[in-house]
Amino acid sequence: MAQGILEEVLMNTALVEDLAEVAKDEALLQGVVMRTRETPNSSELVTYAPLTLFPTSVPKAVFLQALAVQTHYNTLVDRISQDSDFLKEALASTIEVDDFTARLFRIYQQILKEGRSQSIVLGLNRSDYMLDQRDDGTSSLKQIEINTIAACFGGLSSRTPDVHRHVLKVAGRLEESQHILDNNPAAGLAQGIAKAWELYGSERAVIVFLVEENPEIFDHRYVEKELWKRNIRSIRRRFDDVSRTGSLDQDKRLFIDGLEVAVVYFRTGFMPQNYTTEQSWDVRLMMECSRAVKCPDISTHLAGTKKVQQVLARPGVLEKFFPDQPQAVELIRATFAGLYTLDMGPEGDKTVAMALAEPDRFVLKPQREGGGNNIYGSEICQVLEAVKDSTERTAYILMDKIHPAPVHNYLLRRDAPLKMSTCLSELGVFGAYVRRGEDMVMNECVGHLLRTKSSEHSDGGVAAGVAVLDNPLLI
Ligand code: ADP
Ligand code: MG
Ligand code: MG
Repeated sequence: MAQGILEEVLMNTALVEDLAEVAKDEALLQGVVMRTRETPNSSELVTYAPLTLFPTSVPKAVFLQALAVQTHYNTLVDRISQDSDFLKEALASTIEVDDFTARLFRIYQQILKEGRSQSIVLGLNRSDYMLDQRDDGTSSLKQIEINTIAACFGGLSSRTPDVHRHVLKVAGRLEESQHILDNNPAAGLAQGIAKAWELYGSERAVIVFLVEENPEIFDHRYVEKELWKRNIRSIRRRFDDVSRTGSLDQDKRLFIDGLEVAVVYFRTGFMPQNYTTEQSWDVRLMMECSRAVKCPDISTHLAGTKKVQQVLARPGVLEKFFPDQPQAVELIRATFAGLYTLDMGPEGDKTVAMALAEPDRFVLKPQREGGGNNIYGSEICQVLEAVKDSTERTAYILMDKIHPAPVHNYLLRRDAPLKMSTCLSELGVFGAYVRRGEDMVMNECVGHLLRTKSSEHSDGGVAAGVAVLDNPLLI
């Protein structure tokens, strides 16, 4: 359970206390900041974004593997989004019981009926992994999920490397400080948005960041700033604002407050609570029907569901999406954990029996985003016992539980005392792509995000108040 080279520093309590102050101040100096939960709509009160005191060791080979597979994941998501037969079949059982996915799917069907009014596609995603510990001490990269809507922390993670470099220097670890990688997802995400804007082809058109109440506004601001560097104007609006001041002209161009919109960048809209009124759904549909580039469009949003993830793990499915690229299939499949259907029928029955027999081996997942929705341990049995004989069970998928090696670290957050925690990390990799018609005009891996949480929590991201920002220290 060692942090390797840093274990000595970790045990030096006086030094750790000093370093914690240094780290918080450096986070503020570097702009690793967020609004407080009490005042999420005002920047009068800000605090450092929660982060680890020390970076976390990550094996170089596994890290490079995660970067290397990203452009293939981009291609995969993009191809799924264009395959309506696949999406219909994959989600058929889910939409019968999951209202939220069903609502998204209805918008999708309407678009299929009317035809798309925009051939430019912009995908900004983040594929998340944990490093599953093998018996021989090595670890293997296993995908937790892929986020195709509102994938966050590309902004703040562009600024965290300098915080950890500084902490290590102050701790007398100059050499390790030089091993913290540069990272700039904000620039890469903005590059994708800028490319889509350029292809849209109107100098005056703006980017809309679709947002809700949001303590993580600074994370967005980094992307906005990258756009302003290119003199591309972006505005921030809520569903409610667009409902009042948005409209389509006869050519389906989207206007908000009289401004033509080239790209709608969703930083909300991924969970049912984001749609507070029926008007929010009307707005989603209006934007989807418009000529604005949607990031993501409705089919790409659906391609990121956990049900699709499970279907992709079935034999032969990846091959269908990469008929001439066995190498891409191999790279992607190597990152799959065991994923099991809960559809009605013998296969789903087998999954139920397996989960009930050994619940601790699995995670039960509904079609939700944002952290804190998964089901673990004995609760899996409670839930499955209640739904196992009805179609309700098809709202979930079952997944092998991944076991990363726990390491010691200190999690710095405003509302918690400084103490050493046993931690688990999750590595995210950002992908950006732009397609026009048949042409992939951009397909890149644009950076990474390491998040770390105390091992006592089985679920939950940074926004959910559980995980904190971290940096990989390659070993
Ligand atoms: P969400 O879309 O809500 O982020 P995730 O699939 O990422 O859903 O799950 C949320 C969290 O639950 C992850 O960040 C991770 O900490 C934990 N988790 C999810 N799947 C697994 C798994 N297979 N093994 C271990 N932990 C998992
Ligand atoms: Mg997610
Ligand atoms: Mg997640």
